[in-house]
Amino acid sequence: MSLKFVDNYLPELKQLEHLIELSNTQLRQQTLAHVNYNEHLFPIYALSLGSEKQNAPVITFVGGVHGLERIGTQVLLAFLESVIGRLAWDKSLNFLLENVRLNFVPLVNPVGMACHKRSNGNGVDLMRNAPVNSDEKTAFLVGGQRISPRIPWYRGKSGEPMQTEAQALSSFIRDDSFHAPFSLVLDCHSGFGLHDRIWFPYAKSKFQPIQHIGEVFHLRDLLFQAYPYHTYKFEPQAKHYLCHGDLWDYLYEESLQHNTVFLPLTLEMGSWRWVKKNPLQLLKSVGLFHPVKPHRVKRVLRSHLVLMEFLIRAVASYPNWLEDGKSLNMDQKATQLWYDN
Ligand SMILES: [Zn+2]
Repeated sequence: MSLKFVDNYLPELKQLEHLIELSNTQLRQQTLAHVNYNEHLFPIYALSLGSEKQNAPVITFVGGVHGLERIGTQVLLAFLESVIGRLAWDKSLNFLLENVRLNFVPLVNPVGMACHKRSNGNGVDLMRNAPVNSDEKTAFLVGGQRISPRIPWYRGKSGEPMQTEAQALSSFIRDDSFHAPFSLVLDCHSGFGLHDRIWFPYAKSKFQPIQHIGEVFHLRDLLFQAYPYHTYKFEPQAKHYLCHGDLWDYLYEESLQHNTVFLPLTLEMGSWRWVKKNPLQLLKSVGLFHPVKPHRVKRVLRSHLVLMEFLIRAVASYPNWLEDGKSLNMDQKATQLWYDN
């Protein structure tokens, strides 16, 4: 791929590769796959820091699944840059990293981002592409459709293997996290509503809570106690719309075969507020999903740092709040809050 192309269309990939070049040996890098598009090969990178032990708890930050939602990738790159910069002097960060592994897959869909598309290069929505179906009434089109790759939310052909990007991310999570006693994902998206939301599975059912609903409720409780003035709404994705083929539904169900806890969360940054303040940004193709004004981009880049730091600490300290059946009566509270209607 030419450097000029990356400069013009994928500054996020350039920034990511620059971070990889600059950083010292503490940052481990893997290329999960290359996606071939118009004779260009686009890399999907995973970066890791901290404990390499198989039984260390793990947190994985994911971004750029939907190509139009550039801000998710940018939030993660800003955070990664800050973490790398602090390694040289921050004793408590280095101590933390002895007990936890941090992974970053900041740009899952580089072709979509380069082409200003939600989907990947084949027109497939990577969050509708997993082999999992909802038995309930899903949202029309938005819930995933097999009519045409020209319409958004295309699931891909029935029975075909998952797309390269979805397979690469799944294999990475499977190999790295499923054997950890406790692991968490924060997958960063934007474009839904006025508020910043933290979503958890299922996306396929309004009625069926996940097996670890108590653990999710407990984590929410910790966040609300530690940061009472945060403004996140914390809820099951299905509260808003149901969909087929959600990758986190799929991986969560697979994780249940292991005797471990895997909690995939999605951060949905509410972009309608950016549009409300600056309706002209709708004229740009990324405008509905990305704050266009520079001061607003900066504000978003700093506003999720507290959440990311909190999650790392909650993962590293999981034995203090998760074990010994402490979560048990949380199941009931969770069901009351989210599923009692
Ligand atoms: Zn998205």
